Amino acid sequence: MLAVASACRTPAADVPSSSAADASWTMVHVERAQRALRAYGLALRPRTTSIAVHETTASFVAATGQEQAALRAWTTWGTVHLLHPRLWGDDGDAVRTQRLTHELCHAALLHSFADEPTAIAARVPRFFTEGACSVVAGQARVSPVEVIARAAGALPLTVDWFARDPDAAYGAAHALATLLERDYGPRAFATVMEAAARDGRAGCVERALLALTGAPSVPALWQRVVDSTVDRPVDTATPAP
Ligand SMILES: [Zn+2]
Repeated sequence: MLAVASACRTPAADVPSSSAADASWTMVHVERAQRALRAYGLALRPRTTSIAVHETTASFVAATGQEQAALRAWTTWGTVHLLHPRLWGDDGDAVRTQRLTHELCHAALLHSFADEPTAIAARVPRFFTEGACSVVAGQARVSPVEVIARAAGALPLTVDWFARDPDAAYGAAHALATLLERDYGPRAFATVMEAAARDGRAGCVERALLALTGAPSVPALWQRVVDSTVDRPVDTATPAP
C-alpha cells in the first residue's frame, strides 16, 4: 500500500498529511498502475513509495530541484512528486493513469536494486527508464520516423537530448523500448533490471541490455530501430480518383 501525501512544504512525508484527502484521487490510478507494472513483471518495493502532490510549481521545483517547464512529475526511490493535475495542461482520467503508471514504473525500476545508494551508483541510463516507463504506461510519443529525421544521424538516446529536444528523446526511448518488448516480450525490462541488479556497478543496465539483445553497443541497438523503421512497408494504397 502506498502512503499518499499532499505536499506543500513537506513533500517527502511518509505518512498521509492532514490534507491527504486532496490526493485521494491518486489511488484509483495507482491500482491501475500496479496492474500495468505486474503485466511487465515489475513491482514496487512494499511500503517504500509515497506520492506527493504539489499545489504549486514553486513547491514542485523546491522539492525536486527540477526546473524544466515541461516536467509534470519527478520520481525518486521513495517519492513520486506530482505537480497538481490542474497545472498539467492535459489533465484527464486516462492521462492521470498514464502519468501515475509512468512514475511508479520509475520507482519500480529503481526498486530492482537492493537500496537507494545502489540504484544511484548503477547510473541507470535515462533512455532506458523513460522508454520502459513510457511503454508500460501506454503513452503516445513522437513517431520513430520523426525522431530519426530530427536526430539527423546522431544518437538521440544520449542524456543531452532530454534537454535539447525532449520530444525526440522520449520518442527515441519509446521506440527502443517498443522494439525490446516486441523482440523479447513484456518481461524484457524486468529481465534487464534483474541482471543489472546482480551486477550493480555503473553501466550495469547497458551491459544487461547488450547481453539480452546481443547488440555490440547502444548505437548498434538504435540502428535496429532505424532499420526496422526504414524497412517498414510503405503504404502504397492509392486514393480513389
Ligand atoms: Zn519519466
